[in-house]
Amino acid sequence: NLSPYYLKDGDPAIREELMNSIDANNIRTYLKDLSENPHLAGTPADLKQAKELETFWKKHGMDEVFITPYDVLLSYPNTTDENIMNQIQILNGSGDIQYASPLYEDILDPSENKSNVVPPFNAYSAPGIVTSSELVYVNYGRVEDYRYIEANTSVNVSGKIVIARYGRIFRGDKVQQATRHGAIGIIIYSDPADYSNGQTENVYPHSIWLPPSGTQRGTVKKTDGDPLTPGYPATETAYRLEENDPSMKLPAIPVHPIGYGIARELFDKMTGTAKLPASWRGAMNVTYRIGGPLNNTDWKVRMRISTSNKRRKIHNVFGIIRGAIEPDRYVLMGNHRDAWVFGAIDPSTGTAVMKEMSRVMGNLVKTKKWRPRRSIIFCSWGGEEYGLIGSNEWVEIPSPDMQNTYSSLYSKWAYGRPDEEDKTKPSIDVAGSGSDFAPFVQLAGVPICDISYSTITGGYPLYHSKYETFNVVDKLIDPGFKYHRVVAQVIAEVTRRLSEDLLVPFVVTDFSLKLQQLVTLLEHEYGQLLSTNNIRMSELHNVADSFTKSTTSFQKFVDNLDMQNPYEIRMINDQMTLLEKAFLDPQGLPGRPFARHVLFAESSVNSYAGSSFPGLVDALFEIEKDPNQTQRWNVVKKHFSVILFTIESAASTLREVT
Ligand code: GLU
Ligand code: CA
Ligand code: ZN
Ligand code: ZN
Repeated sequence: NLSPYYLKDGDPAIREELMNSIDANNIRTYLKDLSENPHLAGTPADLKQAKELETFWKKHGMDEVFITPYDVLLSYPNTTDENIMNQIQILNGSGDIQYASPLYEDILDPSENKSNVVPPFNAYSAPGIVTSSELVYVNYGRVEDYRYIEANTSVNVSGKIVIARYGRIFRGDKVQQATRHGAIGIIIYSDPADYSNGQTENVYPHSIWLPPSGTQRGTVKKTDGDPLTPGYPATETAYRLEENDPSMKLPAIPVHPIGYGIARELFDKMTGTAKLPASWRGAMNVTYRIGGPLNNTDWKVRMRISTSNKRRKIHNVFGIIRGAIEPDRYVLMGNHRDAWVFGAIDPSTGTAVMKEMSRVMGNLVKTKKWRPRRSIIFCSWGGEEYGLIGSNEWVEIPSPDMQNTYSSLYSKWAYGRPDEEDKTKPSIDVAGSGSDFAPFVQLAGVPICDISYSTITGGYPLYHSKYETFNVVDKLIDPGFKYHRVVAQVIAEVTRRLSEDLLVPFVVTDFSLKLQQLVTLLEHEYGQLLSTNNIRMSELHNVADSFTKSTTSFQKFVDNLDMQNPYEIRMINDQMTLLEKAFLDPQGLPGRPFARHVLFAESSVNSYAGSSFPGLVDALFEIEKDPNQTQRWNVVKKHFSVILFTIESAASTLREVT
């Protein structure tokens, strides 16, 4: 008998129970267990965690639990032959090795002394041995950094090995820019200015700062999902590209990550005199230079990379609480499970939080006969670190298989990251990519939010190094796990409200406000350029205004809705939750078939960042350098018209259904 809660929001008593039952110590215990051993994607340790999660969810009240495997192309360094293992070397004129980088990160705490710690590497690096008479420092390796070198120095990157520091943009974009400029290899290092608070003394294991040997692993593949099966799930029977198919656009040059211990040795041998901007100087105790012959002589730098691509299995795990009234409407809540090494921060803090939330919710199902209005699906993604593989492969399946000083966290958030227009509200960034939420919004038009808690902007120091260990979290980052608890509470409440509120808690007028902001931003940056090329911003203003009108009248309709009419409520909920989909162009953005949202995508020059009107921004990128101006401007014009049409049709989906 559904009647007691057929037309009601969730029970406030359940909310209380949920908030009060989330236990910091449980989160701590889960994290300790999850980060005990390395659990890299495609290895038995990761599969073991998948199975343990399956058992956990079965025990804790999920109605259904299942694992979906995919057979995908991953990448691993050689770990058996020290003569070919990944290494950076400095050679003298006779080819004798003057310096060779260590093959592993140092063991600095007994808890790291485990087997199967993968040595530092960048996944999907091209294998090979490349040698260069110069090492060229390219700062963060961004578009603007190369522009600086070209405009202000006589240093030529082409044919050289470059060294870039980590930070600011996604590392895959550093590789792409290096390749574009003709580099034959790229070394990426973590500078103490960015990863150790500008000093090198008080570091891990005594603090959260990166020690000299700490090295950030990470993928350098630009396309998301399994490289061999673009657009379709990597099932047993899937059609697969050949492993050398150039359409996969895997990195074409060797790439290798190092810590500042090794980087210092390399910088120490550079001799160039080109003027280096002060902002390019990091915090190593060495003279920073852009390039120059090594040791002023015939010395060379050599990269020896034996990383290779391998077909492996990855696994997503799902736990479902079936909805009581609208079981066919899903609220997905999840994070990834695979880690580069111990993953005590990335991703296991997230997994531990999800386990605790699901335990409490499952327990409510078992003991209180609670059931959310809509279904909740907990998701544990596999293969995220390699490029959001588990989540992409799943989204490619059309329909899922259903068998202190602040008075509140909110005020702290608003204080730390205030919205530009209304400082009492926290700012929310346009979603880029970087994790598993991306394919949902970009391929499937599912509304998403990415929640994380961090006190350091721009990434934490030990990111993707071996030193992301349980002790760091337990002793230095969150003793007592208070912050983990509050994050679990926030996510639990977001999930509960999405699954329990009679009216899905979306406000479409917020969407139109954001759209208006994006239009203003576009006008500011490109208005002049567009209008001199006969593209009228006024047309974009018109459709944005008409979208705003539609959201306003929709909101009025919602405010006066007959809350006793279940069909009308469901209709409104569908209009709101499907609005995002109306912004997808099934053909994809120009040249990006798997980025379909015309308003937001990951930026083409930094995957971590969001870009608004991405198709337009891409088409305008360095447009003045294009020899075929007419053809290029036609791409802009066509896409501009697609934007106009798409916004208009999105507005029409909010019209009153008659
Ligand atoms: N989260 C992973 C990283 O930052 C993967 C990101 C991606 O491939 O988009 O390295
Ligand atoms: Ca695929
Ligand atoms: Zn992660
Ligand atoms: Zn990661």
